[in-house]
Amino acid sequence: QSITTDMATLEREVKKYATDKKVELENLKEREEYRREFMGNVSHELKTPLFTVQGYIDTLIDGVKDKEIRKKYLNRAQKGVERLVYIVEDLDMIAKLEMGELTLDYSEFNIVDLIQSVFDMLEMQADKKNIILMFDRKYSKDIKVKADKEKIRQVLINLVMNSVKYGKENGTTEVTIEDLVKNKVIVRIRDNGEGIEKQFIPRLFERFFRVDKSGARSEGGSGLGLSIVKHIIERHDEKIYVESEFGSGSEFSFTLEKAK
Ligand code: ADP
Repeated sequence: QSITTDMATLEREVKKYATDKKVELENLKEREEYRREFMGNVSHELKTPLFTVQGYIDTLIDGVKDKEIRKKYLNRAQKGVERLVYIVEDLDMIAKLEMGELTLDYSEFNIVDLIQSVFDMLEMQADKKNIILMFDRKYSKDIKVKADKEKIRQVLINLVMNSVKYGKENGTTEVTIEDLVKNKVIVRIRDNGEGIEKQFIPRLFERFFRVDKSGARSEGGSGLGLSIVKHIIERHDEKIYVESEFGSGSEFSFTLEKAK
């Protein structure tokens, strides 16, 4: 009797071991697949600006007589290098976020001031398209939240930057903060730009995803901005939402915890 029981237990254990190993193997395969896809995307993203820079530098080495054209090519090469730096920084950030290596450094800070400093930083880009950056102070003069300030700064930069990049000339970007239930606030970033077609909305937060038909290709960027934003917000256990109407504008919003 006891031998039969032992056999049954053993059999169960062997079965469980086999299942565990299978799951482990599948996870490994998935990770390998992920790694391969990631590497493929990375080299693809790096190639375009690298070839651009290389092209201008080769031409300059061959010699360009006209001083103005020389300067133009140097400027373009510089833009390409700048773009490469952005991409590499984004990649670094996303790798850390996805490997769970980034820890949050919580503090209590005034989100209104943070929004203002992000506006100051992006004012020049907005001015180029004559876009007005507005902050609605109706509900909020001094709102203290509890979060990782530098990460939330990154979130705001990415979202406000997008609203400028994909916003229309002479348009507006409006940031508002409202109280939500239970010690939460919601920060909204709304533009009246090109908007996003319905079919693309579920894919927006994917790594490297860019809407092909939009101005995205001509605008600098890596297609990583929104996936970084989503990671940071979800790491805070908060929520991110998007609403958009093609042709008339988009609104991205996220929640934060109020400081007590
Ligand atoms: P990037 O801006 O570098 O392309 P993001 O991850 O920030 O990458 O955004 C992904 C894509 O989502 C963009 O390429 C663009 O097509 C679309 N998008 C993001 N924000 C907006 C917006 N405010 N209005 C319209 N389209 C947007």
